[in-house]
Amino acid sequence: MARFDAVVVGAGPAGSTAARELAASGARVLVLDKSTFPRYKACGGGIPLRTERLLPFPIDVVVEDSVNLLEVSLRGRSGFVRDSGSPFARMVMRDRFDDLLLEWACAAGAQFRPLSTVRVVDSDSDELTVRCDDSFEAQARFLVCADGAHSPTGKMTGLGEGIAECAAWEVEFEGSATNRARWSGRAFVDVGYSPWGYGWLFPKEKHLSVGMVLPGDNARELKGRVAALAERIGVATEPTAISRGHKIRFRRENEPIAGARALLAGDAAGLADEFTEEGIVYALQSGRLAARNLLRALDCGPGLASYQEDVNSEIMPELKAARYMAGLFYAGLRRGGRGWFTAARLMPGLWSAFFAVQRGESSYAREVTRFWFVRLARRLQSS
Ligand SMILES: Cc1cc2nc3c(=O)[nH]c(=O)nc-3n(C[C@H](O)[C@H](O)[C@H](O)COP(=O)(O)OP(=O)(O)OC[C@H]3O[C@@H](n4cnc5c(N)ncnc54)[C@H](O)[C@@H]3O)c2cc1C
Repeated sequence: MARFDAVVVGAGPAGSTAARELAASGARVLVLDKSTFPRYKACGGGIPLRTERLLPFPIDVVVEDSVNLLEVSLRGRSGFVRDSGSPFARMVMRDRFDDLLLEWACAAGAQFRPLSTVRVVDSDSDELTVRCDDSFEAQARFLVCADGAHSPTGKMTGLGEGIAECAAWEVEFEGSATNRARWSGRAFVDVGYSPWGYGWLFPKEKHLSVGMVLPGDNARELKGRVAALAERIGVATEPTAISRGHKIRFRRENEPIAGARALLAGDAAGLADEFTEEGIVYALQSGRLAARNLLRALDCGPGLASYQEDVNSEIMPELKAARYMAGLFYAGLRRGGRGWFTAARLMPGLWSAFFAVQRGESSYAREVTRFWFVRLARRLQSS
């Protein structure tokens, strides 16, 4: 049976990052994924500059657009545009982006085995054994569960219980030249869904990615609402290349994401924020933290509790601040409707703060302490 220092399940951004950093430090790493790559992943493919900055290699070859304009509307009406002055996000199709990340992991020395759906994880005190549906088996000292929001290996290892979730739907329209020119350089978001959620259009080279995120209880509304949004913004008649739903998970407190020999990274650990529902930035961060802690454990013996501590101190403050911002934003929309939307539209500081976070020049954790009305709301809540 093949033996490794670490087996990484899932070759998305979290798994490929963990694998690249482990292999670059000399660890023997096997990456297993149920798909062949490149593979489609339901995702807006918005890569804010703060995400791009975490990668030690250029992603230009897979960038399909760069956006500096943000168009915001309230259920398709009262739209306004804010200009960040310079790009705040890149736009990618995830099949190409994830393939690039995996290529770098393999170039660093990680082995990749596609079409390997992990069905069983057995562990004893010294090692883990991973079994795939084609009866392939591998042994490893440690396991990185980077298998996305459903995280079957998280369940097999008893991790990730209690993580909240919501639902999202994505449609890739084959944009006509006219529509692609209309949306190029511009990200579009549509707010005003109750109790919370938003729709988007993100421009790509050949596609217009239109999607929506809503609470899990509203999952059944998603398809119809995305279709209505596409109609309102004039892309509904474009041919549909692909449409798919996926859940997004949110870790809110101290839910277990590390055991003696296994840890969860990225969506498997619920590391997505509740303001924009982005997860790639936290997938990269947690992949790096996973590698750092696994390398330590390979030297000093089992026990990955330090990974959970690192996630708690380095990622959770940002997720909690984003959740707080989302709470304020959506409560304002629910109670104040159009009045609140107009007030938000007239606050230039709000949009420059958003752009600064997207560019990695600030953070949600910093911004929640900067605005007087956010400070006031926090004080009222805690009194
Ligand atoms: C509709 C939608 C839009 C989004 N838009 C954005 C956005 O614009 N920007 C952003 O930053 N984030 C966005 N997100 C979130 C983002 O997609 C995730 O946070 C990100 O993909 C997490 O990466 P990951 O590596 O943890 O997991 P994934 O990218 O989901 O990768 C998990 C991998 O595990 C593999 N796998 C699963 N089960 C098994 C198994 N049993 N055995 C082997 N392999 C397995 C899968 O094939 C997959 O390749 C969006 C999410 C959704 C649903």
